[in-house]
Amino acid sequence: MKPKQNIVHLPVYQPGKPIEEVKRELGLSEVTKLASNENPFGCSPKAKQAIVDEVERVSLYPDGGSVELTKAVAEFYNVEPNQIIFGAGSDEIILMIARAFLVPGDETVMATHTFPQYKHNAEIESAKVIEVPLQEGTHDLPALLARVTDKTKIVWVCNPNNPTGTINTHAEVKDFLSKISPDVLVVLDEAYAEYITTEDYPDGLQLLKEHKNVILLRTFSKIYGLASLRIGYGIGHPEVIHTINQVREPFNTTRFAQAAALAAIGDQSFIEYCRTANAEGIAYLSGEFDRLGLSYFPAHGNFMMVDVQRPAAPVFNALMSKGIIVRGGHALDFPTSIRVTVGSREQNGKFIAALEQVLAEVEVSV
Ligand SMILES: *Cc1c(COP(=O)(O)O)cnc(C)c1O
Repeated sequence: MKPKQNIVHLPVYQPGKPIEEVKRELGLSEVTKLASNENPFGCSPKAKQAIVDEVERVSLYPDGGSVELTKAVAEFYNVEPNQIIFGAGSDEIILMIARAFLVPGDETVMATHTFPQYKHNAEIESAKVIEVPLQEGTHDLPALLARVTDKTKIVWVCNPNNPTGTINTHAEVKDFLSKISPDVLVVLDEAYAEYITTEDYPDGLQLLKEHKNVILLRTFSKIYGLASLRIGYGIGHPEVIHTINQVREPFNTTRFAQAAALAAIGDQSFIEYCRTANAEGIAYLSGEFDRLGLSYFPAHGNFMMVDVQRPAAPVFNALMSKGIIVRGGHALDFPTSIRVTVGSREQNGKFIAALEQVLAEVEVSV
């Protein structure tokens, strides 16, 4: 058997260790996972109830077109239902965009370092990936624009950027869109948009009104706390959404995901609570990093990238031995940084206490 040549080099995704395994291996009774930007407050109780209620219909296929959910989300954003598409997480929207738009030899432009799924899916389609370094952790939009050629099909902009947490402003993105060819699809991945508390974050819906070639990616996995159900969506021009729908699998989101998402979007007080608690968490962590003399990127999502001034791997391991799981920068090409999810007040306190001990144990790198 011979697989496609363009995929033989691709690594198999390495998930973080499950909490139970870490507990067993290290003999810990308590483990705090701050590694995957999951919501420390879970999800809306209304979403949980919706899942329970849906159990009655487990033997029935879901509504392939997610009609009810589409209607609710369209109303929420004041767009037309034909401007929305759902996927098994926004991960699947990224996959479908690559599948629908890229053929071998096409070019696609993105930042290093950003969310890995853009590159991963582009490579599966044999597209040529053009990577542009971040500037102080932020997408350098003029530099991305400079790499666009008549072969470019898609430009990916992750905002806030994962793993750095930085944002591009409305003015920056607007200027970028005014200069880029309308034939290039611009993906604005806004997985953390609901966490934003700053004024100058892009109004993606306004930009979409002005530019048909924009698609916004949103998800129920992060602030909505439904990561395990796998449901995310794209908002775009009807023609773009139609194109992506042409490659969509018939039943790509489950009944449970649709029902939970419908209940979740109807409970905005839960979202407001999480946004406020997250902003307080960022303020607390920033203050503690300042006290410890550590620099960090300005954070706009529910995670922070902090430079621990020591090789990331031993810091990661030492934190794990104290029951705190983070993302080590060594796996993200930030050799002296770690990425930590903003947790509950209690979790943040535990993380800082453990970090302070670890900084005393691990030697500063020169
Ligand atoms: C988490 C994340 C996603 C995808 O999440 P799904 O669970 O697939 O919806 C997409 N983009 C970024 C930047 C993310 O951090």
